Amino acid sequence: MNKEIATPKRTKEILAQHGFSFKKSLGQNFLIDPNVLAKIVRTANLSEESGVIEIGPGIGALTEQSAKVAERVLAFEIDRRLIPILEDTMSPYPHVKVIHQDILKADVETEIAEFFKEGQDIAVVANLPYYVTTPILMKLLENRLPVRVMVVMLQKEVAERIAAGPGSKAYGSLSIAAQYYAEAETVFTVPKTVFVPQPNVDSAILRLTRRSEPPVQVKDELFFFKVVQASFVQRRKTLLNNLATYFQEFKGKSDVAEILTKMDIDPKRRAESLSMEEFAQICNVFHDVVNTSK
Ligand code: SAM
Repeated sequence: MNKEIATPKRTKEILAQHGFSFKKSLGQNFLIDPNVLAKIVRTANLSEESGVIEIGPGIGALTEQSAKVAERVLAFEIDRRLIPILEDTMSPYPHVKVIHQDILKADVETEIAEFFKEGQDIAVVANLPYYVTTPILMKLLENRLPVRVMVVMLQKEVAERIAAGPGSKAYGSLSIAAQYYAEAETVFTVPKTVFVPQPNVDSAILRLTRRSEPPVQVKDELFFFKVVQASFVQRRKTLLNNLATYFQEFKGKSDVAEILTKMDIDPKRRAESLSMEEFAQICNVFHDVVNTSK
């Protein structure tokens, strides 16, 4: 029986055997610590009935750990050179399917419907390519896929931004966008030394647990995210300045100030102090004003 893929020795052997060279532009930093991998998989609370989706299996280090627990695993890998390597390393795991595709271009919904059993418990478990972390996560969240939980490795700084609450420096439109769809928590941080090659940034494991309902009720989701983004355009500016600059439909600053004050929201506050509920409140009032002025 071969040693686990993620041991430094076996990883080195596999890479040498296939003459593989890392592509920095594809965010290729492979994990070489079986303990960290096992911890990532445990964080997803998989059962033997679970299905797993992985983005970027690399040579299969994490895929192998998921495959040991889950009923089936679906992995999307963009790099053609890794496909024959995965065929080799995944040969003991026939319940793993690798799709050679850019996850951002994939029709994930259809792939899920075709590969997993109806109603199957599904988790995303992945060590993400850091150059596209946010687009990947937002695509998976916005598509409202039937996924219970996402356990992903990403840059520590991005994990903190996603999980941040009001009042913290890391809190921003990304925190609200992600937390609208899921409960977010940074579970543990990971040193650079568990990767080959070592990345320039620190890493963390983020757990996103899908919400069955959004935590706030908004009249129009697109408009809600617009309000949030507009509020954070210039972090140091007041809410009033940012909103009045963005929403030209109002008669002027005093008009915006009056509306905010009526809602009991001090116009001089900065966006980073507002809760998601307060953004929802602004969204719903602004929505009516903007739409009646059209
Ligand atoms: N899962 C492996 C591990 O933990 O050792 C590799 C993780 S590595 C950080 C990221 C992987 O994502 C690489 O294999 C890379 O080729 C792949 N990748 C990069 N961009 C991708 C994309 N847009 N769609 C799918 N895979 C991608």
